[in-house]
Amino acid sequence: MTETLIAFGGNLSNPKVTFRIALDELCERGFHLRRRSGLWRSPAWPPGSDQPDYLNAVVQGHFESNAKDLLKLLQSIENRHGRIRSVPNAARTLDLDILTFGDDVLKTEELEVPHPRMLERAFVLIPASELQSKWLRYVQRLPQADIEATRYAGPW
Ligand code: AMP
Repeated sequence: MTETLIAFGGNLSNPKVTFRIALDELCERGFHLRRRSGLWRSPAWPPGSDQPDYLNAVVQGHFESNAKDLLKLLQSIENRHGRIRSVPNAARTLDLDILTFGDDVLKTEELEVPHPRMLERAFVLIPASELQSKWLRYVQRLPQADIEATRYAGPW
């Protein structure tokens, strides 16, 4: 079993309900939940885009197989929740990303771990730092406006 951090995001239909169902599905298929962050709300990127706010969260737990199998599982759950890959930054019902997978460092066409953009994203680093304090120093390096735009939105 390998410890992993998984990011949840979505801005269509009811992300809070979608996140709960997706987490149950993960737990039925080899993921053992340890802790979950709260929900965090932030405006869609890029700034000024005509999209609903995003909700984001991060979960920490252990997975029974390898990172590639976890990616396959996340993609099957995204697809079940109607995720359609159209253009980059399109609105989405559910986005699931592997942030870290043990100490693995992978860089293949289909999977990069640690997630290559996690250190730039307040909506990932802030919930991740609720679970692991080591992310706090990266939060401090983010633009103040990004930190202020990321608001706590309660438990889920
Ligand atoms: P996105 O549209 O943001 O969900 O990106 C999905 C694409 O990113 C898929 O083609 C994945 O194969 C790829 N990918 C690369 N690294 C990761 C990762 N750490 N977690 C999730 N997807 C990843």
